[in-house]
Amino acid sequence: MSGEFDLIKDHFSDLANHADGALNLLDDAALFDISPKQQIVATTDSLISGVHFHLDDPPCMVARKALRVNLSDLAAMGAMPVGFLQAIILNGSVNDLYLESYKNGLNIDIEHFHVPLYGGDTTVSSGPFSVTITALGKVEKGSALLRSGAQSGDVLCVTGTIGDSALGLACRNGKLSLSENYEEHLIDRYLLPEPRLKVGQELAGLVGACIDISDGLVADVGHICRASGVSASIDRDSIPLSESASAAVSKDRVWWECILGGGDDYELAFTTKLSRLESIISIGQEAGVPIKAIGRIGETRDDKMEVVVLDSKSAEIHVSTPGYRHR
Ligand code: ADP
Ligand code: MG
Repeated sequence: MSGEFDLIKDHFSDLANHADGALNLLDDAALFDISPKQQIVATTDSLISGVHFHLDDPPCMVARKALRVNLSDLAAMGAMPVGFLQAIILNGSVNDLYLESYKNGLNIDIEHFHVPLYGGDTTVSSGPFSVTITALGKVEKGSALLRSGAQSGDVLCVTGTIGDSALGLACRNGKLSLSENYEEHLIDRYLLPEPRLKVGQELAGLVGACIDISDGLVADVGHICRASGVSASIDRDSIPLSESASAAVSKDRVWWECILGGGDDYELAFTTKLSRLESIISIGQEAGVPIKAIGRIGETRDDKMEVVVLDSKSAEIHVSTPGYRHR
């Protein structure tokens, strides 16, 4: 059986051929013209209990994460959110108490992000509880951030810190143990990602390619490379880490695998011309979100390795889990 991306390419890409705004089913969201100057940006993502969250995760956090991962795709396009729809599949373990907490969580983020609920669908099954959110945003025509805009010579940057969420999941599953405050920080980052909407909107029209890191840093930079026809090198020691993530790799360097290959960061990875780097870093400072250069974009490589990770001596580091696969 082929992987998730081959499956989409083999079965569905043809169906999207007639729509330019489908972006070959290769981007974070789709674009629709609504006026000569504006486009609607649309994205959908599901969270399934037992796969993307535990049934004992706080329901308010599940609701907020379901909305936020979709808002993160809007951020990756440089869009401003305008609203969302939710389809929920309930089962016997989802009672009124659970739904009350779920609703309260959703309400907090509806107010926080000014993004109203416009509708949805409710069904019941004997399978796992799942939530599918479809988020809609808007962007000035021509300024959406696409995965296909990277060019050889560009600098590769990321927002925030990388790896916290995957490490948080490891803490939650009892595989990683750190001091209480470090674990708490990582688990919070796993439960509640921060969509980088403001930074994404500020970068719209300014940077080359952009993606939100959901599958893992190396895998998602690989998506930029494939969409843009380029390669990338990442300097591992430039990757911004939280104090908690630094503590994890100091304890055991094996946790670098989690940082490079784990998913759910929901930070932005993007490329820019070197001449713009300073002003882009200032944009992050003004928005209160650190932006850091972590590597370079190059020509396509003959050996087909789109992304290489280098240590401080420029030696290649093998990444055994280059990203989360959904199937
Ligand atoms: P992201 O991680 O940014 O949410 P995904 O990995 O979920 O993106 O999807 C990658 C691309 O594939 C997107 O453009 C998405 O619209 C498209 N896609 C995923 N699943 C399907 C599907 N079942 N039918 C059509 N397009 C799909
Ligand atoms: Mg995405």
